[in-house]
Amino acid sequence: MGEYSSTKRPPRAKALGAAFCLAASLCAAVPPAPGLQRVVEAPAPRHTRALLGVRLSAEVSGWLDEVEAKLGREVYAEFAELDEEGAGEDYTLGVSYLTGAGVGVVRVDESFRARGAKAAEAVIGHELLHLRLRARGYPLFLFSPEVMTMRGRAVDVEQSNVNDLVSLIEHRVFASEMRRTGFDKLVDLTNGLGAARRRRGTEDSQAETLNYARAALEWDDARLLEELTRVHRANGWSRSLADGRRLADIIRAANVNAPGDIAPVFLRGMAVLYRAEFTVEPDRRFALSKIYPQMLIRARRPARTRRRR
Ligand SMILES: [Zn+2]
Repeated sequence: MGEYSSTKRPPRAKALGAAFCLAASLCAAVPPAPGLQRVVEAPAPRHTRALLGVRLSAEVSGWLDEVEAKLGREVYAEFAELDEEGAGEDYTLGVSYLTGAGVGVVRVDESFRARGAKAAEAVIGHELLHLRLRARGYPLFLFSPEVMTMRGRAVDVEQSNVNDLVSLIEHRVFASEMRRTGFDKLVDLTNGLGAARRRRGTEDSQAETLNYARAALEWDDARLLEELTRVHRANGWSRSLADGRRLADIIRAANVNAPGDIAPVFLRGMAVLYRAEFTVEPDRRFALSKIYPQMLIRARRPARTRRRR
C-alpha cells in the first residue's frame, strides 16, 4: 500500500510560472565569498539536479540529494494521470510515497508537461519535502485492522482522512521552505470551494472538516476563506465549520521540530475529527521501519467501562 501525500488542485487555478517566483531560490546558488563566514540554513549543493527534464534549483537539488543519500537509492519520478478516469478536472497535482523496497517515488500530474518548468518544479519540490520527512524518520499513521466503523473497517473507509490530516501537519512543518522558494504561490493548495458549493444538500463529514482546516491554514486569502465559511453555513455544515477551525488552531499552534512531535498533534487532531480518543504505537512488522515508523492507530477503550466483550 502506498503512503500518499496529495497535492490538490485549486478550484480556481492561479496563474502559474509568474516571474516573481524565480527570485526566491536563486540566492541559494550564489557561492559564498572566500573568507566570509555565513550561516547555512539548508545544505547548499555544489551542483544542481534535474528531474523529469526540469532543472532544479540548488535548494531543491539539496532536498533530492538528502532523500537519495538517506534512502540509499535514486528517487523515481514520472508524469502520470493522477485522477480517476472521468474526474473531469485535474484534482491531484502530485503524489509521493516509498515503495516496499524503500525507493522514493514522485508522481506529477501529466498536465504539468504543459504548465512550464517552474510550476513542475514546485510540485516536485513539494513532494520531495514530504519524502524528506520520511527519510528523516517522520512517521505515517495507519488504522489498525480491528478498528471498525459503521461502514466497515476504518482502514478501508477512513484512511484517506488520516492521510489528509498527516499532510496538513507536514505542510506546517515545511511551510517555511515552501514560502522561501515561492512554491507556495505556484502550488496553490486551495481546493474545496467549488466542490463545497456543489455538495449543497449533503451532510458534512470529516472530509469537510479537513477541507475547512486546510483552507484556514493554507489559503492565505481571507476573502476566499470567508466565502468558504459562507458556503459551510449555507449548507448547514456547522459541525465541520467548528471542527475545522479547532483543527486549524491545533495545527497552527503545534511546535513540530522532530519526528516524535508529530504523534501528539496527530492525536489531538483525531480527537477533533472523530470525537473519540485514539492511541498510536509503532507497527513492529512494518517493512520500512528502519527508515520511518508506521504508527498503528487503535481505539482507546473507555477508562471506566465495566462491560467486557
Ligand atoms: Zn502535500
